[in-house]
This record gives sequence, C-alpha cells and structure tokens, in this order.
Amino acid sequence: MGDSVIYIEKDRLTGVYSRDYFDATARRVVDDNPMVPFVIIELDINRLTVINELYGVSEGDNVLKYMGTTLSEVFGNVENAVYARIQADLFAVLCPYDKIKIDEYIETIEEAMHKYSLMLNIDILLSFGIYKCIERDVDMQIQRDRAKLALKTVKGNYINHVAYYDSSMHDKMTNEQEVIQNMASALENREFVVFFQPKHSLDDESIIGAEALVRWKSPDKGMISPGLFIPIFESNGFIMKLDFYVWEETCRFIKEQLANGVNLKPISVNISRINLYNPELVKDLINLVEKYDIPFDMLELEFTESAYTDNPQLMLQTMAELQDAGFKVEMDDFGSGYSSLNMLKDVPVDVLKIDLNFLSKTSNSEKAITIMSSVVRMAKWLGIPSIVEGVETNEQIEYLKSIGCTTVQGYFFSKPLPADEYIKYIEMYNCRELKKKEEIAFGDNIKVICPNDVWNFITSRRNADFPIFDAFGLYESTSAGMELVRVSDGYYDLFKTTRAESFGKHRFVAECINPDDRHIASNMIKEAMNRSAGRGVFRVLRGDNTEIKVFATAKLLGTNEDGDARIFYIGFNDIGEYL
Ligand code: C2E
Ligand code: CA
Ligand code: CA
Repeated sequence: MGDSVIYIEKDRLTGVYSRDYFDATARRVVDDNPMVPFVIIELDINRLTVINELYGVSEGDNVLKYMGTTLSEVFGNVENAVYARIQADLFAVLCPYDKIKIDEYIETIEEAMHKYSLMLNIDILLSFGIYKCIERDVDMQIQRDRAKLALKTVKGNYINHVAYYDSSMHDKMTNEQEVIQNMASALENREFVVFFQPKHSLDDESIIGAEALVRWKSPDKGMISPGLFIPIFESNGFIMKLDFYVWEETCRFIKEQLANGVNLKPISVNISRINLYNPELVKDLINLVEKYDIPFDMLELEFTESAYTDNPQLMLQTMAELQDAGFKVEMDDFGSGYSSLNMLKDVPVDVLKIDLNFLSKTSNSEKAITIMSSVVRMAKWLGIPSIVEGVETNEQIEYLKSIGCTTVQGYFFSKPLPADEYIKYIEMYNCRELKKKEEIAFGDNIKVICPNDVWNFITSRRNADFPIFDAFGLYESTSAGMELVRVSDGYYDLFKTTRAESFGKHRFVAECINPDDRHIASNMIKEAMNRSAGRGVFRVLRGDNTEIKVFATAKLLGTNEDGDARIFYIGFNDIGEYL
C-alpha cells in the first residue's frame, strides 16, 4: 500500500470501512501473515429495495447501519479481520479461515438480523458467499468477486444462505455471460418455443387446461430448460420481453386452434414477479387478448406466491384489475413463500396452485404432506379451487384423491408438449371420451372375450376411434410375457420391421423396448390393469436397429375364457424428441 493511494476510509452511512479501504487493508493483512489461511465473506441483504419501498429509504438505511454495527460487534475483536460495506446492500469480511468459527459468526449475524426483522415485520434474508483465499496473490477485487459468485448461487434462497466458492461457479458465470450475449438474437430468431403441459381433472381424467412453459431451442446447444435461463433473465430484466413473447405465442396458438375447431381448454401463462412492477402490465395483457380476439377466460395468469410476499398491496391491486378485465388469476407455487394461509381470505385468487415438487424437496416428506393437505382443505373451505402440480406417481394421485383434490398437472399425465403434440394429445382424449361412452354400451361382457373378437371390435371402429395412433398392436399376456397377437397396418412402418420378424423373434414386447425403459412399459401395463388405461413414454428398438421414443397407451381389453391370459392393446405414437 503506497502513500500515494487516496481513498475514503469509512463508509459514511454505516461507519464501517469503505470498499477501497477494504481492498487495500485486506491485501496488506494477507501479505503480512503468510502462514494464516484466510477467507473472504461477501454478505448481501436480500430485498432491501422492498424495505425501502414499504417503509421508506430511511428505514432501509437503518437496516444497513444495523448491519454495520453487527459486523463491528462480531469481528471487532477478531485478530486480522477486516470488514466493510462494498456497495448498496453488500458487505465484505476478511478473516482467518476456521470453519467452526465462521459458522458461528454467520449464525450470530443471522440471529441479530432476525431479531431486527421481527420489529419490522418483514423477513430480512441474508446470503453469504465465501472464498477461501487460495490464490493469495490475486487482486483483492477478484478474490471478492469469487466470494460474490458463490453468494449469487444462494441469493434469494430461503433454505441455503451460505455457499463456498468452487471453480465450477466460474464455468457457470461464463455460461451466464453466454446466455446474456445470445438472448436478444435468440428472441428475434424465434428460438424460444412454447410447450404446453396438460392439466387434468381427477374425476374423469379429462383435460381441463394447460400451462404454457417456454424452452430455448438453440441451434448449437439444443433444447435448454428454463431453469437455466429464466433466473438470469429475471435478474437482468429480459424476462419482461420473454414473458410478453410467450403470452403472444400462446394467444396466437389459442386463436389458431379455436379457428381449427379444436376443443381447446384455457391455457395459463407465467407472469414473472418483476412484471408486477410494470405499469403497463394490465394494459398489455388486455391489448393482446383483444388483438388476437380470443375470449378472456382462455388465457389464465399465474403469479408466483413469493411476488405477493414482496409487495402484497401491488399484487392485490394488479390481480383485481386483471380479474375485472375478465382474466382468471392463479397463485403459483403456493406454500413456497412466506405468506400465511390467512392471506387467502384477502387475496382474490381464482385458483391456488400447489407444487408437490417444491414441497417434497424443501421439507421432510411428512411435513410436506401435512402442508399440502392443509392447503387443499383450507382452499376448499374458502371455496377456492386448487390444483396440485408435479404429480408423478399413482400413489400421489390416490393420496390427492383421498384429501379431496380434484385437479392435477404433472408427468403422471404428461410432460410439457410441443404445440402439435398437445393437439394430438387433446384429440386422443376426445377419442377416449368417445370410447368411454361406447364402453358403457359395451357393458361388462368384455370380460370374457377371445382375441379375434377384440380385433374385430377395434378394426371395425378403427377409423372412428383410433385415428391418432401411428400404430397399435394387440397383445396377449401370459406367464411367458406380453406376446404380439395382431398389429395394425402402421405397425411395420413405425417399427421398421416385417411381419415375419414381428411375430417371430420380436414377438415379445419387452424385447423391443430399450432395457433402461422396460420398467416404464411394465408400469404402464400395471396401470392398465388397475385403471382405465396406462400410459408411458419409452424408447423402442426398431427392426433397422434405430430407436424411437414413443408415447404409448395401453388398455386391458379382456381376459380369456380360462382366465389365465389377458388381452391388451397398446397404441403407439412416435413423439420424436422433446423435453
Ligand atoms: P413453474 O411455473 O412452477 O412450472 C412447473 C415446472 O415443473 C415446469 O418446469 C414443469 O416442466 C415441471 N414439471 C411439471 N410436471 C412435473 C413433474 O411431474 N415432476 C417434475 N419433477 N417436474 C414437473 P420447467 O418447464 O422447467 O419450468 C421451470 C420454471 O421456469 C417454471 O416453474 C417457471 O417458474 C419458469 N418458467 C417456465 N416458462 C416460463 C415462462 O414462459 N415465463 C416465465 N416467467 N417463467 C417461466
Ligand atoms: Ca407456473
Ligand atoms: Ca409452479
């Protein structure tokens, strides 16, 4: 540190050191103590802007001052510790590395902040990023940046508040920069594609709607999942543009399909939390629906619950305006934020959406189930319809039914589908409904039926009932396995095989399925035995040694006269590749 360096030593607001002083002093301390291992901790007060907005800037300043005092109390007497306010709500500490002590410091700081937040009645979240100063000679600012990179991985995370830097974070940052560099051209080139994930009624399995979910189809990287780019777009504001694009694509899709006479149900779109601060939000949405001339109730809006926690007043007002315009409003990821069940009395949501995934990842499973069932019950009691998403297994479905949940979304029924697949999916369900009506007429006598009768039954109605399968086969299940009995014309085409092969060496269905996916097919058959139909997505090995992914629907058609063999049909659709 040369004498010529001039910097402001103290941060005026908090009284702790300034950034420049920190960098210079930390440099000196590290150099003067070559045998001492050090860490740099960067500490961020999350959502300080919310405090500023709710309680005024002076209250925000008080929080910062309080943090300054806390740091002085914790680190004032620690030998070789330096602490400072770097900028806005970001603080930094240099101190000797001792894992246990660092855990203690962090706990003390969090406890202090928690006490303070009780007074304010708003949860003040802290995030900590830690860099072990391994490359001691590297510029202090760069070392701080590494701590900050670690911090970013836990910022806004309610569960994990502390992260240590590792070099993979650097790769992640490079990746982020790439995303940022390419996002604008990607939007222009229409690389963002909207998929639709069906929502189903548990009463009769019918489709009640869908959620629009975006994917990035990059020409060089392939399909990129939103988990990788949405958080980046949320932090740099680009999400506003992407959101609008997705809404518009969805409106266009709705208009087209309604014009085609498709029996389309409402589609919900996600509204990112920062769009809540967009003064044009309501107007933009109304204009879109009017531009595409679709009914307001075909476009539903999902707001995430944590946006409510940020700014309840704004959310209430925006929701009310949108509802007045005729939109249905869903509260997404309910149970993930901090608002209480009581708030439901004040918030005029039309649908509550509960994310099973989120619950089971973040709490122990017993607690998750308790939360979910109390939310479902509470919603029922208040007369608010609820939908549970992330539903994957039959057990979950049975449980949900038992607590009175009537609508679900999740892999159990379907993954998010590209637009054309979603249309096929709707058609398939329409057919199923048609069929169901016929089945009632068909009655119970299907129980004892011979394969030929079943075949005649199917082929005679084939055009009306199965126009949407690329291929289907009739199988007999015996102790030897599921054996092919009859196939449709499309079967040989789809599976690039011959009649001789199909009924020869490939007559057992299991042998045609990729070994890693066989369990999916066998679950599908189990489901078909217990429920009205089983479904599965798996890879099939074809005659020419290529593989395709199929969406299959299996149904138990009957049991033979002796009762020791069952007859199934399996309909196959080539779904190519999608997420
Ligand atoms: P989200 O709104 O909670 O969407 C539900 C996510 O759960 C989707 O992930 C969906 O594919 C996934 N999912 C559905 N069923 C299951 C299941 O049974 N099991 C599991 N494990 N996951 C299931 P996805 O598509 O990757 O989207 C992730 C998040 O990205 C979304 O969470 C949403 O917050 C955001 N997102 C996606 N598309 C958009 C968009 O167009 N705009 C905005 N603002 N956010 C979007
Ligand atoms: Ca959503
Ligand atoms: Ca959700």
